[in-house]
Amino acid sequence: MSANQSPPTTTADDDTETDHDHRDDAAPSTDAVVELTDVDFGYTSTPVVEDISLRIDAGEYVAVVGPNGSGKSTLMKLMLGLLRPDAGSASIFGEPSHRFDDGSRIGYVAQHASASKEMPITVREVVKMGRFPHVGFGRLGNEDWAIVHDALETVGMSAFADRRVTQLSGGQRQRAFIARALASEADLLVLDEPTVGVDVESVEAFYDLLDSLNGAGITVLLIEHDLGAVTEHADRVVCLNREIYFDGPTDEFVESDALARAFGTAANFLGGDA
Ligand code: ADP
Repeated sequence: MSANQSPPTTTADDDTETDHDHRDDAAPSTDAVVELTDVDFGYTSTPVVEDISLRIDAGEYVAVVGPNGSGKSTLMKLMLGLLRPDAGSASIFGEPSHRFDDGSRIGYVAQHASASKEMPITVREVVKMGRFPHVGFGRLGNEDWAIVHDALETVGMSAFADRRVTQLSGGQRQRAFIARALASEADLLVLDEPTVGVDVESVEAFYDLLDSLNGAGITVLLIEHDLGAVTEHADRVVCLNREIYFDGPTDEFVESDALARAFGTAANFLGGDA
């Protein structure tokens, strides 16, 4: 696959937080894929996430974990600019998230259950959609089709290219959506509990695929309730329950008490089936 390596456009005009101007830790922001600084957000006057500062660099594999209702999806929407912080700032690829408009750089994979079961189109057509940001609604050229072909190969779905999405298993469908992201040359994959409802063998293969894509340089941001998968695959864990309880390497997370504190229980979430 060929991740889009074009440099982030830095249109730092009006309300851009020129945060690197007043950063004294000299950390260059150029590699930051996502950066949240002191973010608060609530749908009502009650805060749902609070005091969130978080930076994800290119090439990382980050999992966001936390109990139901802890703000994981909200945090993701803030990162992607689908919601705007009440306080603080959110940027993606160096631009304020709410103004970022190069959707082709972000591949989003939702829960399989939420994919439309009515979609009467084939896998190839789904993957072809990944080229639309590049060609408009014009015709795909040979190079575009080659990219579609490669994306299908990469996710192991070439044999299913002409099958309708409605006729796929959950795991196959998720692979098709990953292929669409690859075809769009996304360099960030955002996945919201992608393996809910996917059978066990397919789950493992799915995570192996994510590992290899991350190995090829794609940044992976995963919201996941399956802590076994998280600890096995992610390099970094962000444990959330309104605030960040832990943010660091997966090994340290496993040894920390963050999980018990965030979940309000010492229940054995790790290695369990739940
Ligand atoms: P998680 O993804 O960790 O389950 P969410 O971010 O979905 O958590 O939700 C965090 C809190 O925000 C929950 O209390 C939820 O009920 C509330 N919430 C989520 N979406 C909305 C919305 N669109 N309007 C109002 N409240 C919402």
